[in-house]
Amino acid sequence: MKPEKNKNFKFKHSLGQNFITDEFLLEDIADESGITKDDFVLEIGPGNGALTRCLSDRAYHVVAVEIDKSLIPLLKSNLKDYQNVSIINADFLNYDFQNIINEFPVGANDIKVVANLPYYITSPIINNLLQNPYISEMTLMVQKEVAERIVAEPNGKDYGILTLACNYFSDTEMLMVVSKECFFPKPKVDSAVVHFKKHDEFIGTKLASPLNETYEKLFKLIKASFAQRRKKLLNSLTNAGYDKETLVTAFSKLNFDENVRAENLSLNDYKNLLSLVGS
Ligand code: SAM
Repeated sequence: MKPEKNKNFKFKHSLGQNFITDEFLLEDIADESGITKDDFVLEIGPGNGALTRCLSDRAYHVVAVEIDKSLIPLLKSNLKDYQNVSIINADFLNYDFQNIINEFPVGANDIKVVANLPYYITSPIINNLLQNPYISEMTLMVQKEVAERIVAEPNGKDYGILTLACNYFSDTEMLMVVSKECFFPKPKVDSAVVHFKKHDEFIGTKLASPLNETYEKLFKLIKASFAQRRKKLLNSLTNAGYDKETLVTAFSKLNFDENVRAENLSLNDYKNLLSLVGS
């Protein structure tokens, strides 16, 4: 079903509703996600269910969470022949994750997410998924510019807090760039699909919380570093209240050039710096 052909449904720009109309692209995303018949899959924002069908063909079970109540009858009708799909009408960001787990027919502790994300809440959703110990992998369509920031290497303009946060929890890879022509309504910008493979230490339902004190301190340091990204790191961190003498000693021990800027340091460099400057 082409979404533009459905007279009972009005697209809501406020909910980031840009549906994929290219059948080949839907199959490609499902293929590239690497989903198999053993996998528990979560789709955020199934829309009219076009991607959901491709996921259902490959997965053990798919739970699809859609915020827009007016899409639920359409989703149910489009997915009526797909026995391994559960549809939930909820706001993913304000929904108890335990209810999602309960929708899988047998206990799920390793869930893979595949989604064409609503762009207005890309960052909160990515943060939520990275920190969720039930999630092991994500294949996410995001705006191309956001994808470039996620997979950026040090020393470039795209490299920043988002890159480092994603690197902290996962290995990331850009799978494909997608033209805005593949959607209806057509968005203003192109998109891209990124794959996230979480590091083992952040997967496992027995984890109390991956967000320990070190994480908080590390990202306080990283945020302070990038607050004035064109400035020398030494000045940015001194301005943020870190002790200059301690910083100078740490820079020398770590062989950082005194002119180094925030974008020149890797995640490991920041971890090493934290171990010498403390909070
Ligand atoms: N999966 C469909 C596709 O690829 O064609 C639609 C993707 S569209 C970019 C984003 C979808 O997310 C829309 O169906 C929208 O209603 C839904 N959505 C927006 N905010 C949401 C939220 N907080 N929780 C769950 N779904 C949401």
